[in-house]
Amino acid sequence: MQQPSNLDIKSILAAKNLDHHRKCWEQQLEGVRAEQVQQELTRPPGRYSPQRLAALLSPAAEPFLETMAQQARRLTMQRFGRTIQLYAPLYISSYCVNRCRYCGYNCTTDIARTRLTIDQALADADVIASEGFRNILLVSGEDVQFVTISYLCELAQKLQGKFASISIEIYPLNRDEYSRAFTAGIDGVTLYQETYDRDAYAAYHLAGPKRDYDYRLSSPDRFAGAGMRRIGLGVLLGLADWRLETLALAEHAAYLMKVYWRSQIDFSFPRIRPATNVQDQWPHLVSDRNLLQMMLGLRLCFADTGIVLSTREHPEFRDHLVDICVTRISAGSKTNPGGYASNIDAAKQFEIADHRTPAEVANMIRAHGYEAVWKDWDPAFSPLFSLER
Ligand code: SF4
Repeated sequence: MQQPSNLDIKSILAAKNLDHHRKCWEQQLEGVRAEQVQQELTRPPGRYSPQRLAALLSPAAEPFLETMAQQARRLTMQRFGRTIQLYAPLYISSYCVNRCRYCGYNCTTDIARTRLTIDQALADADVIASEGFRNILLVSGEDVQFVTISYLCELAQKLQGKFASISIEIYPLNRDEYSRAFTAGIDGVTLYQETYDRDAYAAYHLAGPKRDYDYRLSSPDRFAGAGMRRIGLGVLLGLADWRLETLALAEHAAYLMKVYWRSQIDFSFPRIRPATNVQDQWPHLVSDRNLLQMMLGLRLCFADTGIVLSTREHPEFRDHLVDICVTRISAGSKTNPGGYASNIDAAKQFEIADHRTPAEVANMIRAHGYEAVWKDWDPAFSPLFSLER
């Protein structure tokens, strides 16, 4: 395999055949033997190499999931203790200029849409805070007319004091905008590449600025470079082969860890969910067992990354994973703007699968012998972090 000559993620993925011409990886995965998997499982867990991850993700590793789960449980316990962090999403706009085929908010769907004023967003945030959350994730479609950087900064400043950590999951910003967001108190950004396969990316993103694969791919560089403490990565599972997507995702994480070593990387695992006016046939749906293998493979290669599981997943699966490798989960999520505090008629982005209240989820965590952590960070913990603002 040709080695990348320089260190940007676009070159790395291209040189390793992870954005295009992925056939060589399919053959490598199919060619892994059980002895190779066993050999990997005798090595200290938590260290990454593409070959090690390929072995753990291969079909040959499927009979070893129990051993992998035991190692993942021990490693997660060592690095994170018996704790599970909780967070809640706050949807601020369901308007979007993009045409992503898998999303209920895509600009061609005929749905009731809404945008929250700052006061309406604060009303939703008050409900979230009253439920105990101190980590909040602001979510929006690509609504650049309304969800401007000024809007985000004003909202973030007003949320400070109520929340210890404010993250965003919105459209990609430029470097200056990320710096402004950081200065206003936003300390984390989640941005999924959706798929690292360029052909699939073009097929699923039919119109809008999001069609630009490379701009999206370079976004984590911009927000990590702006100082963001928490970096959320992931792919939308269902669009392309999960094994190949995991290999590309791991390369992206490894690259970011080297360059932006002060930031914390979190992996998320969103599987496609039913949504209004969106097709429900997908070529690469991922089973519970395959999703478990993906998480275990990543955990056994990345000891310190967070593993996030949202309410897209059903309760039994989430409960099971609390005991294995998950470090952060959402609870009581509303996936429509105004869903917490008002009766605004607005469509949900997708249907959630875990409808338990935050208190019920926290009780489940405690019943498993873990501490439910509502607040895991305060800017005052890091003098350096405070000085940079
Ligand atoms: S996935 Fe995001 S960018 Fe695409 S249509 Fe939905 S809200 Fe818009």
